[in-house]
Amino acid sequence: MIQLFVPLNFLGFIYREIREALTNIERLFGLLGEPQKVADAPDAEPLRLTGGSVSFSQVRHAYHSERTILHDVSFDIPAGQTLAVVGPSGAGKSTLARLLFRFYDVDGGSIRIDGQDLRAVTQDSLRRAIGVVPQDTVLFNDTIGYNIAYGSPGASQDDIWRVLRLAQLEDFVRRLPEGLETQVGERGLKLSGGEKQRIAIARVLLKDPPILILDEATSSLDSHAERLILDALNVVARKRTTLAIAHRLSTIVHAERILVLDQGRVVEQGSHAELLAAGGAYSRLWADQQRDDTHAQ
Ligand code: ATP
Repeated sequence: MIQLFVPLNFLGFIYREIREALTNIERLFGLLGEPQKVADAPDAEPLRLTGGSVSFSQVRHAYHSERTILHDVSFDIPAGQTLAVVGPSGAGKSTLARLLFRFYDVDGGSIRIDGQDLRAVTQDSLRRAIGVVPQDTVLFNDTIGYNIAYGSPGASQDDIWRVLRLAQLEDFVRRLPEGLETQVGERGLKLSGGEKQRIAIARVLLKDPPILILDEATSSLDSHAERLILDALNVVARKRTTLAIAHRLSTIVHAERILVLDQGRVVEQGSHAELLAAGGAYSRLWADQQRDDTHAQ
């Protein structure tokens, strides 16, 4: 009996770990309670990465058939470059990220990575190729070290300190009496939104994926916290193909290209300077933001 009890107990432990990890990923995209809708095709093959270019071609998506959220959205992100997506609340920005991570399949058009349709590759290989820095990072009730290394078995303490440094967290963690062993989460140290996001950045740096989804925080941070985040984001986006969802326009600072989405349609695409000169939707969003920032000071 005892012999049987021990493995079952262990299985229970593994089950809880897996459940917790899945919950974390689902929360990244606000998907808790949503049934998973995609499955590997019977002949799905692992994604073959040759650089990590991303291409959306005439993508259409509806969460419910009566309401189309994205209409014929097309864009390319060359390998290693950043595309920032801006637009009003509800325009469909986060939906682009969910489709790239293949939480849903497109209802029309296609999404390709290095020329391969997402529906033809295994979900496991796809998700290993993509790192996500979500708006609201959910941490495990465990140590800081565990929270950084959980997606990267085999990471050494030196590796963890290296990514903490790049994510602008090294000084913060060195000042904690228990350092990497500090418990965080509900029963431990409470971290600010900005600190949690930098933990997510450190986690992605350790995973080192070629493709990155950044979902910029919507809540306002003070200017010092924002500077730390932007510096860390600059490091993490360097040399990675990045889809940056900019709810507040600050992510665009390091974007090669900007896409303006409105009611699920691409209304403008170009560089910051081109779009300002065009005097259209982007320049109005920019002017609104400048005015809000001035009022906030
Ligand atoms: P914000 O800047 O406010 O985060 P967004 O541009 O990222 O907005 P999305 O989250 O992509 O917008 O949502 C686009 C539209 O899709 C919204 O009208 C939203 O209500 C709807 N939507 C989002 N998720 C779901 C879902 N799981 N089921 C049904 N509708 C959804």
